[in-house]
Amino acid sequence: MRTFNFYAPTALDEALELLRKTDGGRPIAGGTDLVVQMKEAATKFPHPSSIISLLLIPELNGIEFDESTGLRIGATSTMSDIADSADIREHYPSIAEGAGIVGSIQTMNMATVGGNLCNGAPSADTAPPFLVHDAEFVITGPNGRRSLPADEFFVGPGETALAPNELLVEVRVPAPADRSGSAYVRHTPRKQMDIAVVGVAAAVTLTNDDRIENIRIALGAVAPTPVRATKTETFLSGQPASDESFAEAAETAAAECNPISDVRGSAEFRRHLVGTLTKRMLERAANRARGG
Ligand SMILES: Cc1cc2nc3c(=O)[nH]c(=O)nc-3n(C[C@H](O)[C@H](O)[C@H](O)COP(=O)(O)OP(=O)(O)OC[C@H]3O[C@@H](n4cnc5c(N)ncnc54)[C@H](O)[C@@H]3O)c2cc1C
Repeated sequence: MRTFNFYAPTALDEALELLRKTDGGRPIAGGTDLVVQMKEAATKFPHPSSIISLLLIPELNGIEFDESTGLRIGATSTMSDIADSADIREHYPSIAEGAGIVGSIQTMNMATVGGNLCNGAPSADTAPPFLVHDAEFVITGPNGRRSLPADEFFVGPGETALAPNELLVEVRVPAPADRSGSAYVRHTPRKQMDIAVVGVAAAVTLTNDDRIENIRIALGAVAPTPVRATKTETFLSGQPASDESFAEAAETAAAECNPISDVRGSAEFRRHLVGTLTKRMLERAANRARGG
Protein backbone atom coordinates (compact mmCIF):
# COMPACT_ATOMS: atom_id res chain seq x y z
CA MET A 1 0.00 0.00 0.00
CA ARG A 2 1.24 3.51 -0.76
CA THR A 3 1.69 6.08 1.99
CA PHE A 4 -1.09 8.49 2.97
CA ASN A 5 -1.80 11.13 5.59
CA PHE A 6 -4.19 10.06 8.36
CA TYR A 7 -6.50 12.48 10.16
CA ALA A 8 -8.85 11.75 13.06
CA PRO A 9 -11.08 14.83 13.53
CA THR A 10 -13.34 15.03 16.58
CA ALA A 11 -16.03 17.28 15.08
CA LEU A 12 -18.13 17.05 11.92
CA ASP A 13 -17.17 20.55 10.71
CA GLU A 14 -13.52 19.65 11.10
CA ALA A 15 -14.01 16.50 9.00
CA LEU A 16 -15.77 18.48 6.25
CA GLU A 17 -12.98 21.07 6.28
CA LEU A 18 -10.35 18.33 6.02
CA LEU A 19 -12.18 16.74 3.09
CA ARG A 20 -12.20 20.10 1.34
CA LYS A 21 -8.56 20.95 2.13
CA THR A 22 -7.07 17.56 1.29
CA ASP A 23 -8.67 17.54 -2.20
CA GLY A 24 -9.34 13.86 -2.86
CA GLY A 25 -9.04 12.81 0.78
CA ARG A 26 -11.39 9.96 1.61
CA PRO A 27 -13.50 9.33 4.67
CA ILE A 28 -12.92 6.04 6.44
CA ALA A 29 -15.02 4.37 9.13
CA GLY A 30 -14.34 0.67 9.84
CA GLY A 31 -12.08 0.39 6.80
CA THR A 32 -13.36 -3.10 5.91
CA ASP A 33 -14.15 -2.03 2.36
CA LEU A 34 -11.80 0.91 1.86
CA VAL A 35 -8.59 -0.70 3.13
CA VAL A 36 -9.22 -3.78 0.99
CA GLN A 37 -9.76 -1.54 -2.05
CA MET A 38 -6.62 0.47 -1.26
CA LYS A 39 -4.57 -2.73 -1.11
CA GLU A 40 -5.85 -3.98 -4.44
CA ALA A 41 -3.79 -3.00 -7.43
CA ALA A 42 -6.83 -2.16 -9.56
CA THR A 43 -8.73 0.25 -7.36
CA LYS A 44 -11.85 1.88 -8.67
CA PHE A 45 -10.62 5.32 -7.59
CA PRO A 46 -7.24 7.05 -7.45
CA HIS A 47 -5.23 6.04 -4.38
CA PRO A 48 -6.12 8.63 -1.71
CA SER A 49 -3.33 10.83 -0.42
CA SER A 50 -5.29 11.46 2.79
CA ILE A 51 -7.65 9.37 4.91
CA ILE A 52 -10.06 11.06 7.30
CA SER A 53 -11.38 8.84 10.07
CA LEU A 54 -15.00 9.42 11.14
CA LEU A 55 -14.86 7.29 14.26
CA LEU A 56 -14.15 10.05 16.81
CA ILE A 57 -17.01 12.31 15.71
CA PRO A 58 -19.78 12.13 18.35
CA GLU A 59 -22.53 13.36 15.97
CA LEU A 60 -22.05 10.27 13.80
CA ASN A 61 -22.45 7.84 16.70
CA GLY A 62 -25.36 6.24 18.47
CA ILE A 63 -28.69 4.52 17.99
CA GLU A 64 -31.92 6.04 19.37
CA PHE A 65 -35.51 4.86 19.12
CA ASP A 66 -38.72 6.67 19.97
CA GLU A 67 -42.19 5.10 19.54
CA SER A 68 -43.55 8.19 17.77
CA THR A 69 -40.56 9.57 15.84
CA GLY A 70 -38.87 6.28 14.98
CA LEU A 71 -35.25 5.25 14.71
CA ARG A 72 -32.00 7.16 14.28
CA ILE A 73 -28.82 5.25 13.49
CA GLY A 74 -25.59 7.26 13.42
CA ALA A 75 -23.42 6.49 10.38
CA THR A 76 -20.55 5.04 12.41
CA SER A 77 -22.76 2.56 14.27
CA THR A 78 -21.27 -0.86 13.71
CA MET A 79 -23.07 -3.93 12.44
CA SER A 80 -22.70 -5.41 15.93
CA ASP A 81 -24.30 -2.30 17.52
CA ILE A 82 -27.26 -2.67 15.14
CA ALA A 83 -27.65 -6.44 15.34
CA ASP A 84 -27.50 -6.29 19.16
CA SER A 85 -29.89 -3.35 19.59
CA ALA A 86 -33.03 -4.53 21.42
CA ASP A 87 -35.08 -1.71 19.83
CA ILE A 88 -34.00 -2.61 16.30
CA ARG A 89 -34.53 -6.32 16.85
CA GLU A 90 -38.04 -5.68 18.15
CA HIS A 91 -39.29 -2.95 15.81
CA TYR A 92 -37.15 -3.37 12.65
CA PRO A 93 -36.11 -7.04 12.59
CA SER A 94 -35.02 -7.00 8.93
CA ILE A 95 -32.42 -4.31 9.73
CA ALA A 96 -31.02 -6.39 12.60
CA GLU A 97 -31.00 -9.44 10.31
CA GLY A 98 -29.10 -7.59 7.55
CA ALA A 99 -26.50 -6.21 9.96
CA GLY A 100 -26.16 -9.52 11.78
CA ILE A 101 -24.75 -11.42 8.79
CA VAL A 102 -22.05 -9.02 7.60
CA GLY A 103 -18.82 -11.02 7.45
CA SER A 104 -17.63 -12.51 10.72
CA ILE A 105 -18.03 -11.27 14.30
CA GLN A 106 -14.73 -9.45 13.86
CA THR A 107 -16.02 -7.80 10.67
CA MET A 108 -19.27 -6.81 12.36
CA ASN A 109 -17.34 -5.15 15.18
CA MET A 110 -15.51 -2.93 12.65
CA ALA A 111 -17.94 -2.51 9.75
CA THR A 112 -20.25 0.50 9.99
CA VAL A 113 -23.64 1.12 8.47
CA GLY A 114 -22.35 4.30 6.80
CA GLY A 115 -19.57 2.34 5.14
CA ASN A 116 -21.95 -0.41 4.00
CA LEU A 117 -24.29 2.10 2.35
CA CYS A 118 -21.70 4.55 0.98
CA ASN A 119 -19.62 1.76 -0.57
CA GLY A 120 -22.58 1.29 -2.91
CA ALA A 121 -22.35 -2.48 -3.43
CA PRO A 122 -25.50 -4.00 -5.01
CA SER A 123 -25.13 -6.84 -2.48
CA ALA A 124 -24.82 -4.64 0.65
CA ASP A 125 -26.79 -6.48 3.32
CA THR A 126 -28.24 -3.43 5.07
CA ALA A 127 -29.56 -1.81 1.88
CA PRO A 128 -32.71 -3.94 1.22
CA PRO A 129 -33.84 -3.65 4.88
CA PHE A 130 -33.51 0.15 4.80
CA LEU A 131 -35.39 0.27 1.47
CA VAL A 132 -38.36 -1.66 2.86
CA HIS A 133 -38.49 0.53 5.97
CA ASP A 134 -38.65 3.76 3.90
CA ALA A 135 -35.44 5.03 5.49
CA GLU A 136 -34.14 8.57 4.91
CA PHE A 137 -30.42 9.17 4.63
CA VAL A 138 -29.21 12.41 6.22
CA ILE A 139 -26.23 13.87 4.39
CA THR A 140 -24.02 16.86 5.08
CA GLY A 141 -21.43 18.60 2.93
CA PRO A 142 -20.07 21.85 1.59
CA ASN A 143 -23.57 23.00 0.62
CA GLY A 144 -25.25 22.17 3.92
CA ARG A 145 -27.51 19.38 5.08
CA ARG A 146 -30.02 17.40 3.01
CA SER A 147 -32.05 14.25 3.33
CA LEU A 148 -32.62 11.60 0.65
CA PRO A 149 -35.05 8.66 0.56
CA ALA A 150 -33.16 5.36 0.51
CA ASP A 151 -34.39 4.52 -2.99
CA GLU A 152 -32.73 7.66 -4.40
CA PHE A 153 -29.38 7.04 -2.70
CA PHE A 154 -28.05 4.11 -4.75
CA VAL A 155 -27.03 5.18 -8.25
CA GLY A 156 -24.92 2.34 -9.70
CA PRO A 157 -22.38 -0.30 -8.68
CA GLY A 158 -20.06 1.51 -6.23
CA GLU A 159 -21.89 4.78 -6.84
CA THR A 160 -24.20 6.72 -4.57
CA ALA A 161 -25.93 10.09 -4.67
CA LEU A 162 -23.25 11.56 -2.37
CA ALA A 163 -21.64 14.60 -3.99
CA PRO A 164 -17.88 15.16 -3.60
CA ASN A 165 -16.93 15.85 0.03
CA GLU A 166 -20.36 14.94 1.37
CA LEU A 167 -20.76 12.62 4.35
CA LEU A 168 -23.60 10.39 5.45
CA VAL A 169 -24.48 11.54 8.96
CA GLU A 170 -27.29 9.19 9.97
CA VAL A 171 -30.14 7.00 8.80
CA ARG A 172 -33.66 7.83 9.98
CA VAL A 173 -36.42 5.24 9.86
CA PRO A 174 -40.10 6.05 10.51
CA ALA A 175 -41.84 4.43 13.46
CA PRO A 176 -43.50 1.18 12.37
CA ALA A 177 -47.32 1.13 12.23
CA ASP A 178 -49.33 -1.34 14.33
CA ARG A 179 -49.55 -4.85 12.86
CA SER A 180 -46.28 -4.42 10.96
CA GLY A 181 -43.44 -6.88 10.46
CA SER A 182 -40.29 -7.19 8.38
CA ALA A 183 -37.68 -9.79 7.48
CA TYR A 184 -34.42 -10.10 5.50
CA VAL A 185 -32.54 -13.11 4.21
CA ARG A 186 -29.81 -13.67 1.67
CA HIS A 187 -28.56 -16.71 -0.16
CA THR A 188 -24.85 -17.43 0.03
CA PRO A 189 -23.07 -20.72 -0.68
CA ARG A 190 -21.34 -20.36 2.72
CA LYS A 191 -23.15 -19.34 5.89
CA GLN A 192 -20.70 -16.55 6.76
CA MET A 193 -17.88 -14.59 5.14
CA ASP A 194 -19.61 -14.58 1.79
CA ILE A 195 -21.47 -12.06 -0.35
CA ALA A 196 -25.16 -12.30 -1.20
CA VAL A 197 -26.01 -14.10 -4.44
CA VAL A 198 -29.47 -12.68 -3.80
CA GLY A 199 -30.85 -10.78 -0.80
CA VAL A 200 -34.56 -10.20 -0.17
CA ALA A 201 -36.24 -7.96 2.40
CA ALA A 202 -39.99 -7.55 2.94
CA ALA A 203 -42.01 -5.29 5.24
CA VAL A 204 -45.79 -5.58 5.60
CA THR A 205 -48.53 -3.85 7.51
CA LEU A 206 -51.73 -5.89 7.86
CA THR A 207 -55.30 -4.78 8.38
CA ASN A 208 -57.33 -6.33 11.21
CA ASP A 209 -58.90 -8.73 8.69
CA ASP A 210 -55.42 -9.84 7.54
CA ARG A 211 -55.20 -7.97 4.25
CA ILE A 212 -52.06 -6.23 3.08
CA GLU A 213 -52.38 -2.54 3.84
CA ASN A 214 -48.80 -1.59 3.11
CA ILE A 215 -46.07 -3.61 1.44
CA ARG A 216 -42.42 -3.11 0.58
CA ILE A 217 -40.11 -5.64 -1.05
CA ALA A 218 -36.46 -4.95 -1.86
CA LEU A 219 -33.90 -7.08 -3.65
CA GLY A 220 -30.11 -7.10 -3.38
CA ALA A 221 -27.54 -8.38 -5.91
CA VAL A 222 -29.97 -8.66 -8.85
CA ALA A 223 -29.40 -5.23 -10.43
CA PRO A 224 -26.67 -2.55 -10.54
CA THR A 225 -28.12 -1.20 -7.26
CA PRO A 226 -30.34 -2.61 -4.50
CA VAL A 227 -33.89 -2.19 -5.86
CA ARG A 228 -37.54 -2.24 -4.83
CA ALA A 229 -39.81 -4.87 -6.46
CA THR A 230 -42.50 -2.30 -7.21
CA LYS A 231 -44.68 -4.43 -9.53
CA THR A 232 -44.91 -7.09 -6.85
CA GLU A 233 -45.74 -4.44 -4.25
CA THR A 234 -48.55 -3.13 -6.46
CA PHE A 235 -49.90 -6.64 -7.01
CA LEU A 236 -49.94 -7.40 -3.27
CA SER A 237 -51.56 -4.17 -2.07
CA GLY A 238 -55.02 -4.95 -0.70
CA GLN A 239 -54.63 -8.72 -1.19
CA PRO A 240 -55.24 -11.18 1.63
CA ALA A 241 -52.00 -12.14 3.42
CA SER A 242 -52.41 -15.74 2.29
CA ASP A 243 -50.26 -18.53 0.87
CA GLU A 244 -51.89 -18.04 -2.54
CA SER A 245 -51.12 -14.31 -2.71
CA PHE A 246 -47.56 -14.86 -1.53
CA ALA A 247 -47.01 -17.63 -4.09
CA GLU A 248 -48.24 -15.36 -6.89
CA ALA A 249 -46.16 -12.47 -5.54
CA ALA A 250 -43.07 -14.71 -5.60
CA GLU A 251 -43.65 -15.40 -9.29
CA THR A 252 -44.18 -11.69 -10.00
CA ALA A 253 -40.94 -10.79 -8.18
CA ALA A 254 -38.96 -13.43 -10.08
CA ALA A 255 -40.38 -12.14 -13.36
CA GLU A 256 -39.82 -8.44 -12.63
CA CYS A 257 -36.14 -8.69 -11.64
CA ASN A 258 -33.44 -8.71 -14.27
CA PRO A 259 -30.28 -10.22 -12.79
CA ILE A 260 -27.02 -10.94 -14.58
CA SER A 261 -25.03 -14.17 -14.63
CA ASP A 262 -21.64 -14.05 -12.93
CA VAL A 263 -19.26 -16.31 -11.03
CA ARG A 264 -21.60 -16.42 -8.05
CA GLY A 265 -24.71 -17.57 -9.91
CA SER A 266 -26.53 -17.58 -13.22
CA ALA A 267 -29.35 -15.16 -13.97
CA GLU A 268 -31.77 -18.10 -13.97
CA PHE A 269 -30.62 -19.30 -10.55
CA ARG A 270 -30.88 -15.78 -9.15
CA ARG A 271 -34.42 -15.39 -10.50
CA HIS A 272 -35.38 -18.70 -8.91
CA LEU A 273 -33.89 -17.50 -5.59
CA VAL A 274 -35.80 -14.23 -5.78
CA GLY A 275 -39.07 -16.18 -6.06
CA THR A 276 -38.29 -18.59 -3.24
CA LEU A 277 -36.87 -16.02 -0.84
CA THR A 278 -39.60 -13.46 -1.56
CA LYS A 279 -42.28 -15.97 -0.56
CA ARG A 280 -40.35 -16.89 2.56
CA MET A 281 -39.81 -13.26 3.59
CA LEU A 282 -43.45 -12.34 2.99
CA GLU A 283 -44.57 -15.22 5.21
CA ARG A 284 -42.06 -14.30 7.92
CA ALA A 285 -42.89 -10.59 7.83
CA ALA A 286 -46.65 -11.29 7.92
CA ASN A 287 -46.19 -13.69 10.81
CA ARG A 288 -44.28 -11.03 12.72
CA ALA A 289 -47.00 -8.48 11.91
CA ARG A 290 -49.53 -10.83 13.54
CA GLY A 291 -47.35 -10.85 16.66
CA GLY A 292 -45.58 -14.15 15.90
C1 LIG B 1 -14.13 -10.24 5.47
C2 LIG B 1 -15.22 -9.34 4.99
C3 LIG B 1 -16.52 -9.81 4.94
C4 LIG B 1 -17.56 -8.96 4.50
N1 LIG B 1 -18.83 -9.45 4.47
C5 LIG B 1 -19.85 -8.64 4.09
C6 LIG B 1 -21.19 -9.11 4.08
O1 LIG B 1 -21.47 -10.25 4.44
N2 LIG B 1 -22.17 -8.25 3.70
C7 LIG B 1 -21.90 -6.95 3.33
O2 LIG B 1 -22.83 -6.21 3.01
N3 LIG B 1 -20.63 -6.48 3.32
C8 LIG B 1 -19.60 -7.29 3.69
N4 LIG B 1 -18.32 -6.82 3.68
C9 LIG B 1 -18.05 -5.46 3.25
C10 LIG B 1 -17.90 -4.45 4.40
O3 LIG B 1 -17.55 -5.07 5.62
C11 LIG B 1 -19.19 -3.64 4.65
O4 LIG B 1 -19.63 -3.03 3.47
C12 LIG B 1 -18.98 -2.61 5.76
O5 LIG B 1 -20.21 -2.25 6.31
C13 LIG B 1 -18.26 -1.36 5.31
O6 LIG B 1 -18.20 -0.48 6.43
P1 LIG B 1 -16.84 0.21 6.89
O7 LIG B 1 -17.16 1.04 8.06
O8 LIG B 1 -15.77 -0.81 7.09
O9 LIG B 1 -16.55 1.08 5.60
P2 LIG B 1 -15.20 1.74 5.10
O10 LIG B 1 -14.35 0.70 4.46
O11 LIG B 1 -14.58 2.56 6.17
O12 LIG B 1 -15.80 2.70 3.98
C14 LIG B 1 -16.46 2.17 2.84
C15 LIG B 1 -16.74 3.30 1.85
O13 LIG B 1 -17.71 4.20 2.38
C16 LIG B 1 -17.16 5.52 2.53
N5 LIG B 1 -17.71 6.00 3.79
C17 LIG B 1 -17.69 5.37 5.00
N6 LIG B 1 -18.44 6.05 5.89
C18 LIG B 1 -18.93 7.12 5.25
C19 LIG B 1 -19.80 8.21 5.62
N7 LIG B 1 -20.34 8.30 6.86
N8 LIG B 1 -20.09 9.16 4.72
C20 LIG B 1 -19.57 9.07 3.45
N9 LIG B 1 -18.78 8.07 3.03
C21 LIG B 1 -18.47 7.11 3.92
C22 LIG B 1 -15.65 5.36 2.49
O14 LIG B 1 -14.99 6.50 1.97
C23 LIG B 1 -15.53 4.16 1.55
O15 LIG B 1 -15.64 4.58 0.20
C24 LIG B 1 -17.26 -7.64 4.11
C25 LIG B 1 -15.93 -7.17 4.16
C26 LIG B 1 -14.92 -8.01 4.59
C27 LIG B 1 -13.52 -7.48 4.65
